[in-house]
Amino acid sequence: MARPKLKSGDQIPALVEAMLAELGEDPERQGLRATPARVSRALRELTDGYRVRPEDVIAGAVFDQDYDEMVVVKDIPFYSLCEHHMLPFFGACHVGYLPKGKVVGLSKIPRLVGVFAHRLQLQEKMTKEIAEALDGALAPRGVGVVVEARHLCMEMRGVQKPGGQMITSCMLGTFRKDPRTRAEFLDLVRRQ
Ligand SMILES: [Zn+2]
Repeated sequence: MARPKLKSGDQIPALVEAMLAELGEDPERQGLRATPARVSRALRELTDGYRVRPEDVIAGAVFDQDYDEMVVVKDIPFYSLCEHHMLPFFGACHVGYLPKGKVVGLSKIPRLVGVFAHRLQLQEKMTKEIAEALDGALAPRGVGVVVEARHLCMEMRGVQKPGGQMITSCMLGTFRKDPRTRAEFLDLVRRQ
């Protein structure tokens, strides 16, 4: 995806300064003076997934391999921002696939999760995007992705009890069609 265009320089600090004033703060007070620049840097970092193409993350680490057992990478930590409130949601992502002649270097899967997490997201959409990216790159027999997350936009505003987890999943190919494959994956994910 293209780098977002800015009219001239970084607009975010001025916007944050205006927002601080709007919230009733004094942007000139000492503790807040560097805040607009810090918020800008933090937001750029937390959305740097827009500047990375998921296929580039995987490309170069796909290997031909005669291995046809399930590959599972579980408990991948992630931190994202919800696209509705720009507040954090975070938790763990579990990814599995059944290879069909191709495998991907294991470190690339957490990296792929990070690329999608570092965008404004919906948990449901992120879950599907991770599954589809892996499916597109490896053409495996199937892919399963489970995401468990806490959403601060719900917890901090009292919409949901603190600590409550939202769980989403996306199953493709044999993970969708074959209950035994799906059960094996979910069993591996649940195992401590
Ligand atoms: Zn939200």
